Amino acid sequence: MPLSIGAHVDQTDPLAEAAARGTDLVQFFLGDPQGYKGPEIRYAGGADGLRADAEAAGVALYVHAPYVINVATTNNRIRIPSRKLLQQHVDAAASIGARGLIVHGGHVNKGDDPEVGFDNWRKAIEATDLTVPLLLENTAGGDNAMARYLDRIARVWDAIGSASQAEMVGFCLDTCHAHAGGNALETVVEDVRAITGRIDLVHCNDSRDAFDSGADRHANFGAGQIDADLLASVVRDAGAPVVCETPGGAEEHRADFAWLRDRL
Ligand SMILES: [Zn+2]
Repeated sequence: MPLSIGAHVDQTDPLAEAAARGTDLVQFFLGDPQGYKGPEIRYAGGADGLRADAEAAGVALYVHAPYVINVATTNNRIRIPSRKLLQQHVDAAASIGARGLIVHGGHVNKGDDPEVGFDNWRKAIEATDLTVPLLLENTAGGDNAMARYLDRIARVWDAIGSASQAEMVGFCLDTCHAHAGGNALETVVEDVRAITGRIDLVHCNDSRDAFDSGADRHANFGAGQIDADLLASVVRDAGAPVVCETPGGAEEHRADFAWLRDRL
């Protein structure tokens, strides 16, 4: 079976977006990625319709959680609504039959003890009813991030490992974030697997910015600063389904899929 290679798409009709790209895998938001308002299903057939139509079309759905979710923070006014929003998105993702919900690692404030953040991750997993796999994604920037550098990812993973439902937590490796975050792509698959034992999804993105720049700006393949063969080798070694979160629409994504397939 060749690897599934899909894209992050608009949420209104993800199945039409999949068809336009000739793919069997799409990722999308449910509602506003920048707000606390809670998930919405914009698909005309509602959650049940999307689930049934995706199954009939053989399209795998992944949901990206809002960027505002930060379950690690010491700030109650962010952490508490973040947990609520996380549970709401787990429920919504389950209602459409999604294969997973992707969530960023979050951060604690400058000057905060990162240990508190690791333990907040454990508490969040304890407190959430995980009816779909939760895929923790590495991030590119920030001084006190939970999932930028490997040593921090290891600490988060340790903390989560002691929670019940730990087996429902997986890992999403973002190539742009790894590169811009300062992790060598030559070894990142092996390094992450040594920590997590698993990579469930790859966010394959080129990076507009330099290694360890901390900047999260995705680029189309070959248009950024990541070596072409290296990018392909990460995808090959990870052996997990791929979501391209690259700029543009169906045409650009088709070109990115072809570029990647040529090099796998
Ligand atoms: Zn990503």
